[in-house]
Amino acid sequence: MNPTNDSALVSWVETAQGSDFPIQNLPWGIFSLGAGPARVGVAIGDRVVDVGVLAEAGLLGDVPAEVFATGVLNDFVRLGPAVWSTTRARLSELLRADVGRLRDDAALRARALMPLADVRLHLPIRVEGYTDFYSSREHATNVGRMFRPDAPALLPNWLHLPVGYNGRASTVVVSGTPIRRPLGQTKAPDEAAPSFGPCRRLDLELEMATIVGVDTEMGRPLTLEEAERGIFGYALLNDWSARDIQQWEYVPLGPFQAKVFATSMGPWIVTAEALEPFRVEGPKQDPEPLPYLRGSKPMNYDVELEIAIAGPGAREATVVGCSNFAHLYWSSAQQLVHHAIGGCAMKVGDILGSGTISGPDEGSFGSLLELTWNGQRPLRLADGSTRGFLEDGDRLTISGRARRDGVTIGFGACSGEILPAPEVRG
Ligand code: MN
Repeated sequence: MNPTNDSALVSWVETAQGSDFPIQNLPWGIFSLGAGPARVGVAIGDRVVDVGVLAEAGLLGDVPAEVFATGVLNDFVRLGPAVWSTTRARLSELLRADVGRLRDDAALRARALMPLADVRLHLPIRVEGYTDFYSSREHATNVGRMFRPDAPALLPNWLHLPVGYNGRASTVVVSGTPIRRPLGQTKAPDEAAPSFGPCRRLDLELEMATIVGVDTEMGRPLTLEEAERGIFGYALLNDWSARDIQQWEYVPLGPFQAKVFATSMGPWIVTAEALEPFRVEGPKQDPEPLPYLRGSKPMNYDVELEIAIAGPGAREATVVGCSNFAHLYWSSAQQLVHHAIGGCAMKVGDILGSGTISGPDEGSFGSLLELTWNGQRPLRLADGSTRGFLEDGDRLTISGRARRDGVTIGFGACSGEILPAPEVRG
């Protein structure tokens, strides 16, 4: 086992133990303090470590300090898997209870660690490209049953390749960014003509983002092993969806306006290395995938995921769904291989949306579309109100954590509040 994942490790940052950000996690993000510049940080307990300060002090070997002062993680990530690993190992060592180098240097400690409560978190990576997959068998089956009730739920290609489409990187925003209800064109099956106006079936999609950590050359395919090594980490992702717009527009080329208005990303990227102890087998793939999609080891991760809604002014949020990253039929590595196999150049900072992660039980569905069965079975919130889809003023939060041997590897939370649609013109 990688020594940074040892469940017996303890940090001198006392709040780390038992928190979502113990020394075994060390997720990467971007923070700023007051009017200061955005910088690279690592979360531990209720603190954020200014990694650039440690690099400037000569504590991170030969990793150039400039890569931590750019306001995005891309430059650090571009240094490659060996540097991700040695930097993580060095940070782990500096934060260990039995290592005094940083623990006992009060001046450096004061500059390098600050309360998470005091900082603002930014989008952790400059998103170069955003591809969204459709890799949960349960989700694809549920949507097929609702949108195409007279046809087989899964289309013939689904069990042979990870279905996906190219989304918009320009509207990927960090958790906490308010989400404006989109306008669009809709037509219910029983309506004679389409109309234009605010989306009436606004939904979330519970997903994970895979953060691509390698640049690949156009025209050169990846192997599955290269794809595994080229994944920097994972973050929470809510792929907001306008179901009424989607249902009218999606044939034959897939989602378009229904998905482009906003996608929220969690502020913390948990490294693939931190998740290694949580690797599990995914669902059995039958028929066996073509050779380029076959892996030799378990390719999924056991990460518990949760959806909670708080209505306008509600004191507490209501948990409406619980799923798990492990339910995905096509793994992140398979998605990346498939994406690159035909010659697409992948870039550091590309994100791959997993697709809505639904489990087999009704309480484990990853969207309101499924949880309410297209609005037919509204959910009841703690304040007594009900929801078919999201209403203006609703605050939606997804969260995730992996747990084992008393250690929790948390992803933080990914939230967004729904603002009313813009005024309709024309
Ligand atoms: Mn999606």
